[in-house]
Amino acid sequence: MAGLFTEKVVLVTGAGRGIGRAVATAYVEAGARVVFADRDAQLLDEATAQLSPDSVTTVVCDVRQAEAVTRLAETAAARFGRIDILINNAGIGIWKSPLELTVEEWDAVLETNLRGAFLCAREVAKRMPETGGAIVNIASTRALMSEPNSEAYAASKGGIVALTHALAVSLGSKRIRVNCISPGWIETGDYGALTQADHAQHPAGRVGRPSDVARACFYLTDPANDFLTGVNLVLDGGMTRKMIYIE
Ligand code: NAP
Repeated sequence: MAGLFTEKVVLVTGAGRGIGRAVATAYVEAGARVVFADRDAQLLDEATAQLSPDSVTTVVCDVRQAEAVTRLAETAAARFGRIDILINNAGIGIWKSPLELTVEEWDAVLETNLRGAFLCAREVAKRMPETGGAIVNIASTRALMSEPNSEAYAASKGGIVALTHALAVSLGSKRIRVNCISPGWIETGDYGALTQADHAQHPAGRVGRPSDVARACFYLTDPANDFLTGVNLVLDGGMTRKMIYIE
């Protein structure tokens, strides 16, 4: 993959750990200059410690804060001259009965996952070059199906799928493509600790890895794939296509 994104400038939110860190690092390895954004400065330092300072910069930003997001986009554009690709990855979940979920908890999830993605898209799109750009929003298969007690998270991710097609239509005239990925189970911890049953339940035969999401981001942001906008790429090893009845 080395060189695929040479000279591209990529901004990844929630890049301090997990999927965001893997995606941001993959773009660096593919030649891009990458802005790692997260609300935790220490995580950002850890994530970028082994990477060339010429290729990366870090920005502490809470995506719930509109002014902080504007500063993030300004800083990224000033550091590398422009922004070509945005990966809206920052997200949280609160798993609690809908009968007990507080309005503050609902708002925290929606403000982070959905409003944060909108704010970042709005501010970054303003700073994309006239030749265009690409935005990838990280949704979830929970936009499409549910376990109990996931109302705020599911609503936020369903909102991201809708936000994606709305932005794709609005920003098409600026040659900005907007797509989303709905990952299923992506193991960001100890992959080796997963059981055979964890893997075997997936039609693809395994649990997902952050590198699977990175490759999907590459596909959606590759300039050669410029006929691709407004899609929701389900990346779940087939789980949402599997019919389950308990005998
Ligand atoms: P993670 O390990 O919890 O990482 C999320 C990152 O986002 C953390 O560094 C977190 O910082 C940061 N973040 C949270 N709120 C933020 C805010 N307001 N502003 C800036 N940064 C913020 O999660 P993950 O598993 O890598 O998931 C990444 C994305 O993929 C999320 O949108 C998630 O919903 C989605 N997803 C994950 C899976 C999966 O199986 N892992 C499946 C489907 C979708 P803190 O450490 O400070 O919280």
